[in-house]
Amino acid sequence: MAEKRDYYEVLGVDRNADEQTLKRAYRKLAKKYHPDVNPGDKVAEEKFKEATEAYGVLSDPDKRRQYDQFGHAAFENGGGGAGGFGGFDFNNMDMGDIFGDIFGDIFGGGRSRSSANNGPRRGASLRAMIHLTFEEAVFGCTKEIELTIKDPCTTCGGSGAKAGTSPETCPKCHGSGQVRQTQQTMFGMIQNITTCPQCGGSGKVIKEKCPDCQGTGYTSSRKKIQVSVPAGIDDGQSIRIRDKGEPGINGGPRGDLLVQVSVAPHPIFQRDGVNIFSSAPLTFAQAALGGDVRISTVDGDVVYEVKPGTQTGARIRLRGKGVPSVHNRDLRGDQYVTLIVQTPTDLSKEAKELLEKFDEACGNTKQEEEPKKKKRFGRK
Ligand SMILES: [Zn+2]
Ligand SMILES: [Zn+2]
Repeated sequence: MAEKRDYYEVLGVDRNADEQTLKRAYRKLAKKYHPDVNPGDKVAEEKFKEATEAYGVLSDPDKRRQYDQFGHAAFENGGGGAGGFGGFDFNNMDMGDIFGDIFGDIFGGGRSRSSANNGPRRGASLRAMIHLTFEEAVFGCTKEIELTIKDPCTTCGGSGAKAGTSPETCPKCHGSGQVRQTQQTMFGMIQNITTCPQCGGSGKVIKEKCPDCQGTGYTSSRKKIQVSVPAGIDDGQSIRIRDKGEPGINGGPRGDLLVQVSVAPHPIFQRDGVNIFSSAPLTFAQAALGGDVRISTVDGDVVYEVKPGTQTGARIRLRGKGVPSVHNRDLRGDQYVTLIVQTPTDLSKEAKELLEKFDEACGNTKQEEEPKKKKRFGRK
């Protein structure tokens, strides 16, 4: 595979470029290299794709942050180093949402331009959100969501026409579903094909509407859908459920359901990709003498033997106690635990005496009398 160019370099902007600058830079390149403007030009097509990919990443604040941190590795499927981030996949991106306004600007007709016809069309995507606990995201789970879902009307078979009647050919577009306009633009003549405003692209008009669907051809109902949440999913990521979106148009396939995940914070654990971070208290004696401490993990408590002379802030690593990779369940991150030595407070008389003895045994002479000249800080 050829070395990928830096996304900022592709767009010709600097790394601090704001949203408007990115958009302007992309719009300029898109106008220059768009396949409609350069029919059959492979180089232009590659440049267009490259710019589109760069803009797709940099215009999304989350993806941009990942890219800034990990470079292209952030979006390689199953990439070990960065870990935890979903692979960057154009199929998972709703290009229409991101680029719609730009192409709308350039071509007037927007994205309906190429999809406006009365042939079968895929239904639109539906979006939903689920809330998970930290553990549900780590180990995966099944969630049930309830959604209002459209289905073709059974009374009229989706035609929208009253029983005994049928839709008629649209007089405006003569059944094609599209209307054409030729437009003179700064980069030549553009055939602007848009959805027929009279029939909405179906090529048909309904004179007498089906009473059950008011002529829409669809009925809506609340439905329950099981969402299988993969282990290792992270806050903000989405699960795509094929063919659970809006019904297709003119016999096209249903769209997809995109379920976005929101993960609640955990009182003890923090997560960064596949790794989990936490802290654990250590008594003063445990820190000095070493010994077994109990540490919470997402799998339950484990016993860890700390070394004698452990300092506060020391970090230990529990291999395989992190989050499974969403790409590969067998790969799991680690847990990093910061040990915090607890300085004893509210000492009993006995404990105090022992500590004083301990201090002496360590060779620290207790200062009975304060040297007068030394300035004293802290509480008296
Ligand atoms: Zn109907
Ligand atoms: Zn029409």
